[in-house]
Amino acid sequence: MQKIILKENLNELIKTWIKKYEIIAPVKESKISRFKKINSPNEIYNCLLTDIPAKTHFIPEGETLLEHKDKKTIEIEGKIKKTILFGLRKCDLNAIQVVDKVMFDKNYINKRKNTTLVGFFCENPDKYCFCNSMELQDFYDLYFYPQGKNYIISIGSKKGEQLVKNLPELKKEIKIPNPKNFKKLNTLDIEKYYKDERWKGDVRKCLSCTACTAYCPTCNCFDIKELINSDIKTIQSKRFHSSCMSKNFSLVAGGKSFRDSRTSRFKHFVFHKVLYFKKQKGRPMCIGCGRCLRVCPTKIDWVNTINKMNRKPLFNFSRFSFKKLKETNK
Ligand code: SF4
Ligand code: SF4
Repeated sequence: MQKIILKENLNELIKTWIKKYEIIAPVKESKISRFKKINSPNEIYNCLLTDIPAKTHFIPEGETLLEHKDKKTIEIEGKIKKTILFGLRKCDLNAIQVVDKVMFDKNYINKRKNTTLVGFFCENPDKYCFCNSMELQDFYDLYFYPQGKNYIISIGSKKGEQLVKNLPELKKEIKIPNPKNFKKLNTLDIEKYYKDERWKGDVRKCLSCTACTAYCPTCNCFDIKELINSDIKTIQSKRFHSSCMSKNFSLVAGGKSFRDSRTSRFKHFVFHKVLYFKKQKGRPMCIGCGRCLRVCPTKIDWVNTINKMNRKPLFNFSRFSFKKLKETNK
């Protein structure tokens, strides 16, 4: 079902939501755009894509998962007020769908249950966006699409329908197009490129700084730290982001790291995003937002690297035989 609203009436609609819900929307603070609680629609920053993705709403840094006191352990349930996560682009909506497939703690599930996802069509993709290459799906509670003086609102769930129940219904539904892209990942079938020599260029430039994973909306790996309160009676288990780009990530007892080399870590990042997750869960983990490319301090572009491999397979000297060539030329 689709509904319609005049663009000039959107702020009024948001004001009615603010009375009943907590609204988290894109804002810009000190040159950084992120999702944050707003008290007025005027605070919403209508930007390209937020620098910091919406995962911080569901998996904030340092959140408490368990509390240990008097020989008892309490699981923190992550109860939040009814919340609207507003202004998500199609890529970021899909990122939430990806994370839903792997996060099962009460804290995460409760936040998800109490959050309504309101998407917004992306009118300003930049040179790093390649979402159309990543098999994105329609995943939202509501999705706004600008058309002339109006927004067309597609309804994806009962939760979403509730928010726009007083708006008029569109008699004839329209098909919402994909956002434009200037960049493309030419293939998802990258298994055959694992041993390609051309990864070396990217790996040489990689600093293992982990920025790509910190800004990636689908990276969800974490570490748990036990912090003792100053009363020395209570201990809290807190979740902190972790990164497969870091050597310590795969460090085990005895001092062995399973991905000791930067090459193995870099390739794991790319192959997990494009290939491994798809094999396990049926869709790529990468949603083509381009944040990892935007923030990389040494301008590594693994999408271009794959495209080069795809355009021109590396000549395999080890399999080349002059003898066979002579025979075929006879
Ligand atoms: S942001 Fe770039 S340099 Fe830093 S770990 Fe990722 S790929 Fe390597
Ligand atoms: S791997 Fe890069 S492009 Fe893909 S979802 Fe993560 S940050 Fe976005």
